[in-house]
Amino acid sequence: MSVSIPILMYHQVDEPMPRGTPMRGLVVSPAAFARQMSTLRALGFRGLAMRDLLPYLTGQKTGSVFGITFDDGYENNLRCALPVLHRFGFTATCYAVADRVGERNDWDQAHGVPQVPLMNAKQMQTWIDAGQEIGSHTLTHRDLSTLDIEQQRHEIVASRHKLNGLVCQAGGVRNFCYPYGALNHQSLVCVQEAGYETATTTVRGRVGIADRRNLLTLPRVLVSRSTTCAHLLLKCLTAYEDRRRVDLAWRKP
Ligand SMILES: [Zn+2]
Repeated sequence: MSVSIPILMYHQVDEPMPRGTPMRGLVVSPAAFARQMSTLRALGFRGLAMRDLLPYLTGQKTGSVFGITFDDGYENNLRCALPVLHRFGFTATCYAVADRVGERNDWDQAHGVPQVPLMNAKQMQTWIDAGQEIGSHTLTHRDLSTLDIEQQRHEIVASRHKLNGLVCQAGGVRNFCYPYGALNHQSLVCVQEAGYETATTTVRGRVGIADRRNLLTLPRVLVSRSTTCAHLLLKCLTAYEDRRRVDLAWRKP
């Protein structure tokens, strides 16, 4: 694992939604999340927030570690995932949508996705005070690749400032996640300008040696409702995900 590091990508952790609910697959039950953490822990792995994972990504530190990320900033991360993280002594990064703090995932509404609460500032502070990290997932969760550079800069830079004004976190907001995993070269320029240390995509794969030079386009390993523990181990410990990796088209040499 010191060579290839999986960064797990979660969304919601809560009791399952009724059958037929759009995007139901992105809700992992608290029991399944606990089993996944327990399985990796039993094998000697430690789950880390992006802030804590950084020295491993750069190669300054080596060890059996994996990243834990939650997209969108759901209140159920605090309610259902935090007790599990606490039990195992793991840290995780929750990427919040700065203009939707304390509101709902309205960007998903057109697709019929159930509207559920996102953490408010007080809840994000509780998350941070429990040793966890808040990262940025833009201001409004728009597809950055459809925006011009000024609009992208606003989403990427202002979200960092806004979150830094809402919560008190050592070192401030340092890590970013692209909504829908969508980005172009201009997004990358803005993320760099904003001073983020890492940025995660939805490109499948574990972080390999070659990714150390590209900390602003990191691949991740999706964990969904249907991911069994056996499947998770396959994704984390073998080249299963790496073989399914499709890099961002505009990054290809
Ligand atoms: Zn998202």
